[in-house]
Amino acid sequence: MFRKILIANRGEIALRVIWACKELGIKTVAVHSDVDIDSLHVRFADENICIGPAPSRDSYLNITNLIAAAEVSNADAIHPGYGFLSESAEFAQVCDACNITFIGPSAQTIALMGNKAEAKRTMKAAGVPVLPGSDGPVATADEAKEMAEEVGYPVILKASAGGGGKGMRVVRTKEELETAFQMAGAEANSSFGNGDLYLEKYLEEPRHIEVQILGDKHGNVIHLFERECSIQRRHQKLIEEAPSPALSEIQRRELGETAVRGAASVGYYTAGTIEFLYDKGKFYFMEMNTRIQVEHPVTENITNIDLVKAQIMAAAGEKMTYKQKDLKIAGHSMECRINAEDPIRFTPSPGKITTFCTPGGPGVRVDTAAYAGYFVSPHYDSLVAKLVVRGHTRGDCLMRMKRALESFVVEGIKTNIPMHLKIMDDEDFKAGKLSTKFMERYLV
Ligand code: ADP
Repeated sequence: MFRKILIANRGEIALRVIWACKELGIKTVAVHSDVDIDSLHVRFADENICIGPAPSRDSYLNITNLIAAAEVSNADAIHPGYGFLSESAEFAQVCDACNITFIGPSAQTIALMGNKAEAKRTMKAAGVPVLPGSDGPVATADEAKEMAEEVGYPVILKASAGGGGKGMRVVRTKEELETAFQMAGAEANSSFGNGDLYLEKYLEEPRHIEVQILGDKHGNVIHLFERECSIQRRHQKLIEEAPSPALSEIQRRELGETAVRGAASVGYYTAGTIEFLYDKGKFYFMEMNTRIQVEHPVTENITNIDLVKAQIMAAAGEKMTYKQKDLKIAGHSMECRINAEDPIRFTPSPGKITTFCTPGGPGVRVDTAAYAGYFVSPHYDSLVAKLVVRGHTRGDCLMRMKRALESFVVEGIKTNIPMHLKIMDDEDFKAGKLSTKFMERYLV
């Protein structure tokens, strides 16, 4: 097992990794930018090192500084969290070259799955269903047009190197295609340094359902069931739950087995997620995230498996102590992402938190790095807390989430708590009628 892990991240996920390390008896090193000196991850780690100024590219994305921090602190592994360098093949490779274990998949797997067009091709070859569309990137607007005619409009152009909901463009008619192709290509180039686009059928009202995967370095790959993440705004998830209210037991088993087949085909040996779109009873592979996800707690709640610990143990070469048949879903779980933002306009609302009173009681978990007096920096994402509840049924979760949201007091900044409360009262939400278009009704 590792002696000391450096956490190349900040905020709630850095703290989440610290909790896991403490329970495993592993020492921790926090890294922080100038403005994060008062963060809780800095306070609760055994050691801390400043890795640069506030802008992410100078600190949390600065590979040289991170590796130097790992070397001076003698850390034997790095946990990248999510976001930042968690899906950087280069970072994984540099860790490897420096004899520091990267807690995640190999650089090669990250690169393969990070190229969404290649990932789709790989999964298709493993027998995972994909949406009709181009087999890899489309070279020209004419080629895209031909492909669009074949699959039928509407189609979506997606950046091969895209992520975080960026680099996608829906095209409804052939007249729009040429301009959309040029613009999406230029956008992809400026955002990701790679202008490659691929094209696929666009589904009007799909559900986003993803499968949690866990592997080890002994060839075992299992799934920990699915999460429903259809409540999104601008392709950013807001509410996640497990299990999905849409699936029958047979579909659940099939989806899980399909995801395991896909992950096993690339020799996956850590935690990861395979995302699918679900429409009219069918699943289509969308992408694979080769890291821990924001929404991992809902899976932890229904399986009783600590995913971050499992990830660390797998990286250390330990064999999984459970098999697929040992896993059962216990109850239901739901997560609301509490963001520092205007609840109506959805614009960021950074600033100093003056009151921060988190809910508790049975079945409530709050993952956060915030506290009264904490300053929400405009330099980073706006997530201030993850409010996670568990219950026997989805109905229990709804009522529990409502009472938890009502007693979550955050002052000094604006949050989206009022919006979450509205969703908990929405008739479609209550009935489990969800789709990625759900949030459109709440937009002004
Ligand atoms: P990212 O890597 O940026 O998260 P994804 O490929 O995971 O991008 O897609 C993010 C979201 O975009 C999905 O959850 C879904 O809402 C929407 N989306 C992506 N592809 C399609 C499609 N073919 N049809 C309809 N919606 C899509």
